[in-house]
Amino acid sequence: MLRSLARIRHRMPSCCPLLVSVRNEHKIPEKLQSVETDKDPEFSAMVLYYYHKAAQTMEPELIKEMEKYPHMKAEERQARVSAILNMLGSVSTSVEVNFPIVRKNGTYEIISGYRSHHVRHRLPLKGGIRYALDVNESEVKALAAIMTFKCACVNLPYGGSKGGVCIDPKQYTVDELQTITRRYTMELLKRNMIGPGIDVPAPDVNTGPREMSWIVDQYQKTFGYKDINSSAIVTGKPVHIGGINGRHSATGRGVWKAGDLFLQDKEWMELLKWKTGWEDKRVIVQGFGNVGSFASKFVHEAGAKVIGIKEFDVSLYNKDGIDINDLFEYVEEKKTIKGYSKAEESKEELLTADTDILMPCATQKVITSENANDIKAKLILEGANGPTTPAGEKILLEKGVLLVPDLYCNAGGVTVSYFEYLKNINHVSYGKMNSKSTSQIITELLNSINESMQQCSDDYPEIKANKKLTKIRECTREADIVDSALQTVMESAAAGIKHMAHKFELCNDLRRAAYVWSAFKIFQALESSGISQQ
Ligand code: GLU
Repeated sequence: MLRSLARIRHRMPSCCPLLVSVRNEHKIPEKLQSVETDKDPEFSAMVLYYYHKAAQTMEPELIKEMEKYPHMKAEERQARVSAILNMLGSVSTSVEVNFPIVRKNGTYEIISGYRSHHVRHRLPLKGGIRYALDVNESEVKALAAIMTFKCACVNLPYGGSKGGVCIDPKQYTVDELQTITRRYTMELLKRNMIGPGIDVPAPDVNTGPREMSWIVDQYQKTFGYKDINSSAIVTGKPVHIGGINGRHSATGRGVWKAGDLFLQDKEWMELLKWKTGWEDKRVIVQGFGNVGSFASKFVHEAGAKVIGIKEFDVSLYNKDGIDINDLFEYVEEKKTIKGYSKAEESKEELLTADTDILMPCATQKVITSENANDIKAKLILEGANGPTTPAGEKILLEKGVLLVPDLYCNAGGVTVSYFEYLKNINHVSYGKMNSKSTSQIITELLNSINESMQQCSDDYPEIKANKKLTKIRECTREADIVDSALQTVMESAAAGIKHMAHKFELCNDLRRAAYVWSAFKIFQALESSGISQQ
């Protein structure tokens, strides 16, 4: 079926006017038109471009939906749809904060930080905080928009936000980083930009549980001292101060699960002419930070061969596969993959090396029109936010590559953040009240069935729990509950994306399918709550 869709697609315009007879009015804004061919587009422009392509695809369907208002004239329906679609293409609020710090050597430095709220159709908003030199307002705004679509994609009731501080954290002592984090937190609190019911940050590039614990502490000692939900000011906290088991590895785990939901799907694998499953699939990963390392670990444990790892300072290669758990032990001690002796240091550009699966898990704009033609992988799992430019993606789609897009592929992190948030505002950890009783019910039920059956006949074989039931029975630890809930979330989002790909005949354009799947839900929330109130 997908192959036949692929043939149809070449004959069709890129949006899908076959489904409904309403005219498509939504235009890609003039300033974004060059993005489709741009070698190095502005990051914000490429995110908006992806969104507007999806908006074009879905607009006729949305206008049709407005027929539920029989009193509205056609132009009014069109105007309402356009207003909401345009609203989704812009950012509600963005702040820049600048503050001085005194460095260890006595010098003064002005630090710049940002926080952007994209669409407030659901509160709180949600999005990480990154520390990097390329952080600027336009990038943070674009990343906030990705968060809105990401949360909607996996059905989380959040608007999207993002923050960042423009520093290279390696150049600062731990004390200096703590000062910066606490001051940045205060600046955002004073402006009502963060809070458990407003906007809840989380780790992102170069931040982690340590930074989150500084933020919670700063909030609890100042603005939040009377707030019973104060620990919900951020997610991604250390477990002992209200974090959740499984959050640290969640984004990488989600990358693996997202890939798995396509790799185990016969119909989608036919498109690649692949057998289902991970066994013997060769994988190259770019980035071995939090996302890349855990994504590699999970695909390795699922049976794939991780043959290459590209880091900013070194690339490792082993055609027989690298034992990622062994590499984890090495990195734990050395804090780098450099010098790992069970793989060779490669001078080759690993992004374009021979492999089946590529997982860009580092940074944005690494797959562009410059290298897309040379990419050998047939399946790309976007662990990073925005690693592929529209011009790069166009080439890949034409080559028949299946690209699982960031807004779905790396949504595992924010999904488990949501579980952590629920744990915090519910003031009870997962499984504390009922997991033992669930496992007892399963055991007692099996016992009871067996007793009854044996009363009927002596040689009745004992009924045992199958693999799935055993997993549910053993699901009593918080980490297991988190894993199983994440699985449910990823499965339902994958089903939605696949459905949109079929419905709008988008073939292998999974990004557009994912944006459409997300934007429909945001549209409905905005439309039914009255857009002028946002
Ligand atoms: N920084 C992560 C992301 O980009 C996680 C965000 C969160 O947990 O709020 O998805």
